[in-house]
Amino acid sequence: MEKVDFDIETQDFFYSDKLVNEIKQPLSLTVQVTRRCNLCCKWCSEAKQIKDPTFDDLKFLADQIKGTRRVYISGGEPLVRKDFVKIVDYYSKKFQVLALLTNAISIDEKMAKFLKGKIKYAKVGLDGPRSINNFTRGHYDEAVRGIKNLINAGIDVSISAMFLKSNLPYLDKLAQIADTLDTKQLKLIEPVRRGRSSNFSMAGVPKKSEIKKKIKELKILKDKVGWNTKIEYTFWDKKTKGYSLLVYPNFEVHAWPILDTKETSDDTSVLVGNLYKQSIQEIWSNLPIEFRKSHIAKYTGMAMRKI
Ligand code: SF4
Repeated sequence: MEKVDFDIETQDFFYSDKLVNEIKQPLSLTVQVTRRCNLCCKWCSEAKQIKDPTFDDLKFLADQIKGTRRVYISGGEPLVRKDFVKIVDYYSKKFQVLALLTNAISIDEKMAKFLKGKIKYAKVGLDGPRSINNFTRGHYDEAVRGIKNLINAGIDVSISAMFLKSNLPYLDKLAQIADTLDTKQLKLIEPVRRGRSSNFSMAGVPKKSEIKKKIKELKILKDKVGWNTKIEYTFWDKKTKGYSLLVYPNFEVHAWPILDTKETSDDTSVLVGNLYKQSIQEIWSNLPIEFRKSHIAKYTGMAMRKI
């Protein structure tokens, strides 16, 4: 395989088209097994409801995306499905890396023990300390209990939070919480207008300059306090355009985020295929090369900035 180039000035990696063309399907897919949820977060990007696929549909989907290295079981909240255990059991046998995106509020000890050995890790949304999280998401105590159950069962947890005006002054506290809970990672994400956040005033979103200032403060604190939890952050720009491939509950595949065009099919995503009719290899081969490059860069850690 060809080598990847690195630009020392921009600190970015670049792939040639030839290298990208050697990869025949996505490295990672996010499968939304439902859009239903037991929370009602103010900034939820996936609030628009779509009918759940049946378990048989999901078995068919597993065949359509066969060979994908990593699959996220996502939502909505996947645990609201009555057949969640059956889905995880089935998908864990089909894919090398199965991971779970969850709000964790209904992960009790029994569920955490079941998930051990089936999923490689869980990503849990938490926006800040109790009162800050409860302003945007709610159910802080239940989410933290779920995180503790996962960690006690031996499952790695990554916390995800958005940069919001409401939580920006408290991100150091969130980093402390993430470290105290012994989570592996804290991922800080720039919000985009999608789903419920489309209706909100962007007054709730900090300016890039404010976020950058906070990142600098977090860097200094991390060095001083010595948190073990890794802290990473993502800005959306041309290098991340269309990196994520979301499989909707109706098996449409959408590339996300697309921020610089009005031609999006659903807020900030673009419809790129349908897994009822096409295999994932076919959808991948028809993807614009820039989306494939973003996908590979993101999932090899090259579009992620570390604190
Ligand atoms: S952000 Fe996640 S947890 Fe919150 S309402 Fe949306 S799907 Fe549910």
